[in-house]
Amino acid sequence: MTLFDSPAFEGHEGVHAFSDEKSGLKCIIAVHSTARGPAAGGCRMWPYASAAEALDDALKLSRAMSYKNAMADLELGGGKSVIIGDSRTQKTPALFEAFGRAVEDVGGKYWTAEDVGVSVHDLQHARRHTRYVAGLEGHDAASGDPSPVTAEGVFRGVRLCVQRALKRDLDGVRVAIQGVGNVGGYLAKKLHAAGARLVLTDVNGEALRRVAAETDAQMVAPSAIFDADVDVFAPCALGGAVSLDTLPRLRARIVAGGANNQLADAQAGLELHRRGILYAPDYVINGGGIINVAGEIRALDRGEAFDPAWVDAKLDRLALTLEEVLEQARTERRPTHEVANEIARARILGAPRKQAAA
Ligand code: NAD
Repeated sequence: MTLFDSPAFEGHEGVHAFSDEKSGLKCIIAVHSTARGPAAGGCRMWPYASAAEALDDALKLSRAMSYKNAMADLELGGGKSVIIGDSRTQKTPALFEAFGRAVEDVGGKYWTAEDVGVSVHDLQHARRHTRYVAGLEGHDAASGDPSPVTAEGVFRGVRLCVQRALKRDLDGVRVAIQGVGNVGGYLAKKLHAAGARLVLTDVNGEALRRVAAETDAQMVAPSAIFDADVDVFAPCALGGAVSLDTLPRLRARIVAGGANNQLADAQAGLELHRRGILYAPDYVINGGGIINVAGEIRALDRGEAFDPAWVDAKLDRLALTLEEVLEQARTERRPTHEVANEIARARILGAPRKQAAA
């Protein structure tokens, strides 16, 4: 199968591969769409088993960013970058400087930010070689780590789903969180503060113990999270948590979490619907972080300071969009992911073509 026939390719405008022998950088920058504005999406560092696996991830994540940015009502297209490597052992300033040069080479069609394995600190190195990086700290337009804002959006989304599907508030609701890193960790604290009872897992035992202690949560092994006796399953690790294999084990009536690409495939979305499990489409519920990043891009473009009120207004709007998707899916008796995809594609197709920032 060639790149162009791959199902994940779906209309990508550009796919760029970069390597830098000196620093060891191997990265892919995928630009799915610039129809709504320059493509924006985080950078993931992960020890992919092969370049083909990294490419597949970059393409899927980048397309999801187009949909996410459209649903968050941002003047941004969708893109994503992946660096092949182990973020625990292979990060160096030189690696992220080389990554910055790669982003610069894409010429402003792609803005980067944090994703799994990449921190604000790493991106400061990239920033030395490109202006197309957001999610930074230390200047007026800077928006900082997007994870708390992502978690806030997910928290509001979980609350909405619980109100709609269970007709109650969060107090006493049982939630299983898969992955208690940046997003999952903040989400756990917010849910705990709202009275939810948590079951947590993570492949990183230290992070798991820390967050569980802070939130009075039950800990389970990674493979056991799908069997937890809970009302809500919140995937906050990597993609593909909801599959035809894991779905029969879920006892939750709601799937709502922060991870990107939660459905292993479209069949999983149909099966969720068939089983009457309310699914909050991932790229709608987890749009808070990119809204925060967009606030920084907007401030940089205008030469202004970062405006948290703009971000708050967009977050409010995002919650309404999620509600609209859930309501349309309910009245039309259709899977929520299909309704969201339809709206996102219409927003991308209907966008007047914007020039990428020069
Ligand atoms: P992170 O790396 O901080 O956290 C991910 C956590 O998941 C880690 O603690 C990791 O050990 C754990 N994990 C990985 N595989 C696991 C498994 N099989 N079982 C249990 N735990 C596992 O990343 P993050 O920034 O919190 O992002 C989490 C997810 O949310 C990702 O899918 C990311 O793309 C998505 N997301 C993040 C943001 C953001 O603002 N950070 C925004 C939107 C979407």
